[in-house]
Amino acid sequence: PDYSIKTSQRLFALNQRSFLSSLVYIEHKDSKIDPSTLNTLVAAKQIGGPISALVAGSNAQEVAQAVSKIDGVEKVIVANNPIFDHNLAEAITPLLLAVQKAENPTHVLASHNSVGKRILPRFAALIDSQQISDIIKVVDETTFVRPIYAGNALETVQSSDSVKIITVRSSSFPQAEAGSSSAAVSEAPTPEVSVKSKWIGEEVTKGDRPELGSAKIVVSGGRAVKSKEGFDLIQKLADKMGAAVGASRAAVDAGYCDNSLQVGQTGKIVAPQLYIAIGISGAIQHLAGMKDSKVIVAINKDADAPIFQLADYSLVGDLFTVVPEMIEKI
Ligand code: FAD
Repeated sequence: PDYSIKTSQRLFALNQRSFLSSLVYIEHKDSKIDPSTLNTLVAAKQIGGPISALVAGSNAQEVAQAVSKIDGVEKVIVANNPIFDHNLAEAITPLLLAVQKAENPTHVLASHNSVGKRILPRFAALIDSQQISDIIKVVDETTFVRPIYAGNALETVQSSDSVKIITVRSSSFPQAEAGSSSAAVSEAPTPEVSVKSKWIGEEVTKGDRPELGSAKIVVSGGRAVKSKEGFDLIQKLADKMGAAVGASRAAVDAGYCDNSLQVGQTGKIVAPQLYIAIGISGAIQHLAGMKDSKVIVAINKDADAPIFQLADYSLVGDLFTVVPEMIEKI
């Protein structure tokens, strides 16, 4: 056998490993780190090597201080400039390119949400790298697992690109926590930025309920609630349980609730400790967004509803009788 080949392959792998380093794009709002970023940092930690965090925007300096205390972060790169506000892809991409050039990370990561999904593909195209989207597991520094076909199959992908561009499914990784160390904070290089699109505004539904993506309990309603007033029952039960409110696409499309509540393939992906599906049939597109929940309770008047095949606890009954009773008893 030609051992020299194996040895050189091993040396190459070792060499690769010793140069491993990740750059994580930090999302933040109102001077607070977005919780999904904390999951992305854990994915970066599992890849191995030192982690740099990029914080951009007009209050980046303030956020950088908090990021510097997070376990695993070795360096925080700050671009304190209002041009980077609102995560506009045209502005952030040149910044990422400049940081990439200066730091030479082997992995660049962001959360698999509307921000990561609009920034990283542009960056990946510009550095001629194949993006690896929505990973749920790090096998090793080149190999990742991601769901495909609305979560009906898992694909293991191996990348030989020199820079791996990755978006991370938040619900599949724990959140990084503040540690005792404090990472170095440095200024990002200043790229030339020409932005042709403009941020006009946003309408955010604000409430006292926990955020859907990170809540421990989610109570979701489907088409069966029949009206906005019917959906109030779902909200009342959620409030009793300190839960976030979710919905099926049918409930959203019918106008019973806001579309920010949609759970599923084209909505939010959640994996709470407890998911209660009320009047939801269990279409695969809905299951794609909640099937990793730890305990699933389904309430449906049809004993053959597909959701019951996935549920840990099944309650066959009319939601208009069952839910008021639950609200009263809790
Ligand atoms: P239905 O399928 O109509 O089910 C209603 C259920 O309520 C039934 O099981 C019925 O038995 C039960 N019911 C009726 N009355 C009562 C009562 N009084 N008490 C108790 N139970 C009752 N869907 C999503 O949810 N999320 C997505 O992200 C999503 N993305 C999609 C993407 C694509 C490309 C496509 C094609 C579809 C997508 N859908 C999505 C739609 C999905 O296919 C289903 O149409 C949708 O999930 C159905 O919603 P539902 O379960 O509320 O309604």
